[in-house]
Amino acid sequence: MSSNQKKNIKVVKRRRLNKKKLAFVIIVFILIVSILLGIIFKLFGLLSSKTEKKQVSNVASASENSEQFDLQDEKKSSIAKSYTVFIDPGHGGNDGGSSMPRRSDILEKDINLKIAKKVASFLLKQDDVQVILSRTDDKFISLNDRAEMANKQGADVFVSIHLNSFPNIKEASGVETYYTKDSTYKSEELALSIQETIVSYVPTRDRGIKTDEFTVLTNSKMPAVLIEAGFLSNEEEGKRLLDETYQSELAQGIAQGILTFLDEYLSE
Ligand SMILES: [Zn+2]
Repeated sequence: MSSNQKKNIKVVKRRRLNKKKLAFVIIVFILIVSILLGIIFKLFGLLSSKTEKKQVSNVASASENSEQFDLQDEKKSSIAKSYTVFIDPGHGGNDGGSSMPRRSDILEKDINLKIAKKVASFLLKQDDVQVILSRTDDKFISLNDRAEMANKQGADVFVSIHLNSFPNIKEASGVETYYTKDSTYKSEELALSIQETIVSYVPTRDRGIKTDEFTVLTNSKMPAVLIEAGFLSNEEEGKRLLDETYQSELAQGIAQGILTFLDEYLSE
């Protein structure tokens, strides 16, 4: 074999090697590209599911912030929620509501808000329910504005949460739910449903459902009730109302009463 021939063989060999290398490189390249594409698609999927999650959490945060009504509307049209529940924590701002005897720092407005937020979080566990709160912090809202908010949002039910106080009769205790006598909506049924579930969830006196012409109720264009969820003036009940666990049980009773009403009277 001449050195020239040797050289040729070497060259051919090298070329063969190069071809193999090239094929290998191409395969590796295709593999890398497909892996990368897979990762990109996966990421894209994650991103879009995150966006969905974000949308869902907007409802919660929108309901946490009563001023974000536009967000609520967007949400309503994008993921058709069946029911809108309006929860109204009574009083707020310079209107403290009733207070505990000898404890001027314990105000009805604060406990109302705590219970209302708990009711909202229980309701938000349902896929077909969205919640709007009239207030999520300590601010004053007129009675008429509360009803108007609910009307504007096309709420399906209006539930105002209050606490009683009757310092002259310290034994007075228990829960009562109000509706307006001449309501053209199913307010009496809503009151009954909520009252029944509350007294089955917490150990309290059942004072029944009653009628009264509260402004928030008369101005609301939907089934509307006002719950007096206990007496701050009663020593024992007052203490319980400050307890987070009791507030949760109470809230669960209220939420269950609302859901039962929605299923029984508003479902198509
Ligand atoms: Zn009140």
